[in-house]
Amino acid sequence: MFKFSGILLLSVFILSCASNTNQTFKVSELEYPSDLKIVKRAEWGWKALTDTLQQHQINRITIHHGGVEFKDSADVPAHVRQLQDWSRSEKHWIDIPYHFMIDLQGNIYEARPINYPGDTNTTYDPRGHALIEVMGNYEVQTLKPVQLESLIHLTAFLAKTFDVDTTNIRGHKDYAETLCPGKDLYRYIQDGTIRRDVAGLIEK
Ligand SMILES: [Zn+2]
Repeated sequence: MFKFSGILLLSVFILSCASNTNQTFKVSELEYPSDLKIVKRAEWGWKALTDTLQQHQINRITIHHGGVEFKDSADVPAHVRQLQDWSRSEKHWIDIPYHFMIDLQGNIYEARPINYPGDTNTTYDPRGHALIEVMGNYEVQTLKPVQLESLIHLTAFLAKTFDVDTTNIRGHKDYAETLCPGKDLYRYIQDGTIRRDVAGLIEK
């Protein structure tokens, strides 16, 4: 019996060494309701993780903007792929800093897998935060109703899935010195619209 478990242990050891040469990192997949306009990672050409971080448990939802003006004519999948390449090559992050990105039509692009904390150029600790970015600069652009609707539905889905209290739905500027997510988006956080509508959707 001892001899048998020794062989078993040895083979487990060999297998785990072998897997290090071509490692795949855990990616949590979520089951979305049909009313969310999700563009899955596989649909926009996400490249698999080549590095990892300690995983985290979501207890907050934090809203960002891209900070760069975005036009209706933009090639969104190309923009998302470029952001992934830049995040890895320039910033040495494991992936795009956000978990979700919403375009001007309210389509929701899956980005960094939700089981890993995001990244930031500012000083707050993103562990525990689900990070949603709305593409565009809302210091100068106006948030479209279709974007706000997607943002509220996605936030409600995440709050329900991870049991996040609506008081923990905030904007980036609530944690760090930044204009993010821009005044025309932040006003819906500040006046309670997003928290109220999310609470209404969760109760349904
Ligand atoms: Zn931000």
